[in-house]
Amino acid sequence: MTDIERLRHSASHVLATAILKIWPEAQFAAGPPVENGFYYDVDLPHRISPDDFEKIEAEMKKEIKANHPFERMEVSRDEALDMGKKGRLAALGERDQPSKYKIDIIENIPPDEKISLYRSGDFIDLCAGPHVMRTGNIGAFRLTNVASAYYKGDEKNPQLQRVYGTAFKTKKELDDYFAMLEEAKKRDHRKLGRELELFVFDDDVGPGLPMFLPRGAVIAEELEKLAKETEFAAGYQRVRTPHIARESLYKKSGHLPYYAESMFPPMLLQKDHPHAQAFDQLLKTFEGLDRKMLAEMGIDVEAILLENPKSVPNRVLEKIKELPEKQQTAFVEVARLRQAMSLAVASFRELDRYYLKAMNCPHHHKLFAAVPRSYRDLPLRLAEYGTCYRYEQSGELFGLMRVRSLQMNDAHLYMTPEQFEAEFNAVNEMYLTYFKLFGIDKYLMRFSTHDPSKFGQKFVNEPELWKQTEEMTRRVLKDSGIDYVEVPNEAAFYGPKIDVQVWSVIGREFSIATNQVDFAQPRSFDLRYKDRDNTEKIPLCIHRAPLGTHERFIGFLIEHYAGNFPLWLSPEQVRILPIGDDAKVLEYSMSILSELRAHQVRAEIDKSTDNINGKIQRAEQIKVHTMLVIGKRDMDADAVSVRIHGKGNLGAKPRAEAIAEILQSIKERRA
Ligand SMILES: [Zn+2]
Ligand SMILES: [Zn+2]
Repeated sequence: MTDIERLRHSASHVLATAILKIWPEAQFAAGPPVENGFYYDVDLPHRISPDDFEKIEAEMKKEIKANHPFERMEVSRDEALDMGKKGRLAALGERDQPSKYKIDIIENIPPDEKISLYRSGDFIDLCAGPHVMRTGNIGAFRLTNVASAYYKGDEKNPQLQRVYGTAFKTKKELDDYFAMLEEAKKRDHRKLGRELELFVFDDDVGPGLPMFLPRGAVIAEELEKLAKETEFAAGYQRVRTPHIARESLYKKSGHLPYYAESMFPPMLLQKDHPHAQAFDQLLKTFEGLDRKMLAEMGIDVEAILLENPKSVPNRVLEKIKELPEKQQTAFVEVARLRQAMSLAVASFRELDRYYLKAMNCPHHHKLFAAVPRSYRDLPLRLAEYGTCYRYEQSGELFGLMRVRSLQMNDAHLYMTPEQFEAEFNAVNEMYLTYFKLFGIDKYLMRFSTHDPSKFGQKFVNEPELWKQTEEMTRRVLKDSGIDYVEVPNEAAFYGPKIDVQVWSVIGREFSIATNQVDFAQPRSFDLRYKDRDNTEKIPLCIHRAPLGTHERFIGFLIEHYAGNFPLWLSPEQVRILPIGDDAKVLEYSMSILSELRAHQVRAEIDKSTDNINGKIQRAEQIKVHTMLVIGKRDMDADAVSVRIHGKGNLGAKPRAEAIAEILQSIKERRA
């Protein structure tokens, strides 16, 4: 438990105490710390509502002011159960009703584990701890929400009321946290996405399938340009692969059946076969032939069909039996041939399943395998902004953060084990370069490792490779001074992985990317390279996506910048605002527009007849980065008046200088 979690969990004891002071009959279940706060599940006939918060908070304040110590007591199982029966657990004193949830919890504690109680003031709770020293250490808190929750998350169990709150060491931290939430609301990427015309969803297109409007597409294009330049310099090569693939590919990769739930259902297509068409033709001839024969024999299939479609075979058979033997035999022969033919054709018509790709790796592995590789080709780095489709549950969809179509800053690096450390380090460097560029000061890498006791079940059975790659990864993380935490037992099946969490400038957390070592897929795809000693070996593979997906990363950037993108990322970089309707001023403005556009600057001009204040206001509203205001005086001096969104008027500058500065800022991708 981290310090802040310890503080928040302690606050849940105080919350329970306060509730008991008001409603002594309350029964409590679990009260853990959670992300950004804590809760306590309470069983109480009174329905707690936010209107009760003030009253509860007042009692909590009294408890904190009393500064009770949290005292730990170890008891035997019988003692604990006895107290539970007397209603003394999660209570201020003995009660008529037993502490039923606490009794249930005690009964589920493994026999060899110690049972501890914690007392603060009159309140005694069954709890493993830890807590802060005294209730007075809880600097500041607030109740935030109440929701319902089933005991142990099982809907067969009673429904409880989950009271949420948060707590901090100081009042300032608490205030900052709520100010951040307020600011986050203003920066919500869904809200800004609409206001700044960046992206939309449409019911006819489908939920979770964002479409980028021109202003949003520009951001995606800029990110792609950045990735392509960075990756080119780092020795990556670009590839392009289709959005769909046959079932067999995903069986090989193991995505099927294990990942099937996250994939869109398959498309059923007829298998192509070189002879299928010829057989088809033959079958048609036979079908025609037996009908013709029947007609010649005076059996009208159409009439029987009209009478009762179900009885056709029987009725036809009856009629045939009435015919002379010779005719019967001939017909049976034809019917037999026809049946054989249709069986043959059916086998050519087997259905093929195609899936929308949920990951790019299998396609890239195929590209690795497409050409004979030698150690001289390694490391081989194949990159693609690949579009993937994942079937997220509709309840999980959330703006650009959780979507069903995603364009991923993907690449797969194939290497020898000796090359792993350098490659992994280079990938990490790339992450850090991007963080710096985007002004991401706070980030954390979660390094998930394996548990040797689970080889062959949870983790692929390659003890040596696990050890080696984890050691090298750890070393790289340490040497580069990166903030990371190690999480045992959470690696992927096929290798250790790193998830990257970043915090926006206002402190909101996003997980944006993964960096993943893989020793299983190269094997299942039978990837090989010829080593120095002429033997064939299996390469290691790194999956990496520092910029995550366009969807999530742009969502993050919108909130990070509050829509005020730096010049290089701005959908509209420059807007020229001529003052008045002087034809000469307009002509001069147009020449600046052409010059900027010739340099690929996304520049526009406002030729409306509005007065200049109206024009500025409109440009500010949609957050145009740089406004060039042009009056007659600017024209006469071959100058422009520069205005920057959020910074205001910077005054007049020679035209050439202003344009050179714009170009330089874009080129350097200045913040
Ligand atoms: Zn506790
Ligand atoms: Zn991959």
